Amino acid sequence: MKHISLWEEILEKINGKLPAHAINTWFNPIVPVGLTGSELLLEVPNQFFYEWIDSHYKKEFLELMPKVNGESLRYRFIVSTDQAKRKIENFGESPRKQKSLDELAPTINKRYVFDSFIEGSNNEFAKSAAESVAENPGNSSFNPLIIYGGVGLGKTHLLHAIGNNISTEQPRSRVVVVTSEKFTLDFVNSLRKNRTVEFAKQYRNADVLLIDDIQFFRGKEQTQEQFFHTFNTLYQSGKQIVMTADKYPGEMQGLQDRLLSRFQSGLSVDIQPPNFEVRVAILLEKAEQNGIDLDYDITQFIARHIKNNVRDLEGTIIRILAKSSLMNREIDFDLVKDVVKERAGKGFTSDITIEDIVKKVSEVSKVSEKEIVGKSRKMEIAQARQLSMYLCRDIIGTSLSNIGVYFGGRDHTTVMHAVKTINKKTELDEKLKTMISGLRQEFDFSLN
Ligand code: ADP
Ligand code: MG
Repeated sequence: MKHISLWEEILEKINGKLPAHAINTWFNPIVPVGLTGSELLLEVPNQFFYEWIDSHYKKEFLELMPKVNGESLRYRFIVSTDQAKRKIENFGESPRKQKSLDELAPTINKRYVFDSFIEGSNNEFAKSAAESVAENPGNSSFNPLIIYGGVGLGKTHLLHAIGNNISTEQPRSRVVVVTSEKFTLDFVNSLRKNRTVEFAKQYRNADVLLIDDIQFFRGKEQTQEQFFHTFNTLYQSGKQIVMTADKYPGEMQGLQDRLLSRFQSGLSVDIQPPNFEVRVAILLEKAEQNGIDLDYDITQFIARHIKNNVRDLEGTIIRILAKSSLMNREIDFDLVKDVVKERAGKGFTSDITIEDIVKKVSEVSKVSEKEIVGKSRKMEIAQARQLSMYLCRDIIGTSLSNIGVYFGGRDHTTVMHAVKTINKKTELDEKLKTMISGLRQEFDFSLN
């Protein structure tokens, strides 16, 4: 039970060093689960948790680690959900870890794997091209492979997934992952130190070269020259090259024509922004990864307002977790709405009002506005009312009690019931479903 006493020792040391709320929120929930060699295994409730600790308390953690046989204890976090399959994340690695290839590929992100990449019509071509390159590096006509598209759409994720896959399948192969900025920096440094030969060797020895964001080569003539030679050396010896860019290479400005024409010999694939269904799928997956359970209507609400890219969707989940944990609030619709409002900014503060929704529903249902907000329980009136309540929730995110007040002074449980009823009905009733999505689209249009 050494791990428990070690952890207690750490907790004791931290007392007084950090405010009590921080200890309560971030340290007390940690469970020591084992000790392997000089590494303490710590279980945390979810992925968000260790990301938070890593970005806010890493220094404290490193300082607090007790010494074992004269060496600082290392630590690893494990996420406690079943889904995480006890996936072990590395940080707080020993500072004396040997360098070598690590220096060249310091940025490979172990979490960016194919399995965690959600496929949709927007990215399936890029994903299958990436998978095929990962299975057969250098041997296909996909050399070089260029993945291009806007920010936050998963280019870096796919690039690293290729790297991770090849490293696992062919551990001996030298996979080099760099951003074009790092490549540039290395080159500039090698110039300063008169070590351009070493620089060239480093990169030209790679079996697989993965370069992120080549648009940053723009206007850097000498670096492009270097890259051109690296590219040729690798290409001629059948080594795989994969690049990402913000635009279709043919449209990139500031890159030398001879580079661009080299790129033509391979394959360029694009990633588009995710559509609604893909956004929902991504949200559900990211919520699960973080160990939170999001209601389907909450997920839909987020997906309808956060549209630009996957990074925003992910950020929204993280923010929801942070807000709920820091303010000790339950994750409910109101909290989610606050976060979405913050993040969607202008796009969210739409001018759509409850009145607009009632008016629209009245148009399609032929029930008068007055009846919709009135007390009648006649079936078609009650249905139009339920639909209006549902849309208020779904589109504006009005709170249950406010909806209740507006629609004839009902209480929030009635509204909740209405939302649930419509949700259920849409599963069975295609016509209703089509009508709702039609209405959404109309409102959506005025949201943009
Ligand atoms: P880009 O390089 O295109 O700017 P990233 O690859 O950095 O975008 O993606 C931003 C974030 O969104 C990353 O955390 C990534 O894991 C996640 N992401 C992007 N696309 C997907 C996807 N299809 N499935 C799951 N996660 C994704
Ligand atoms: Mg990127």
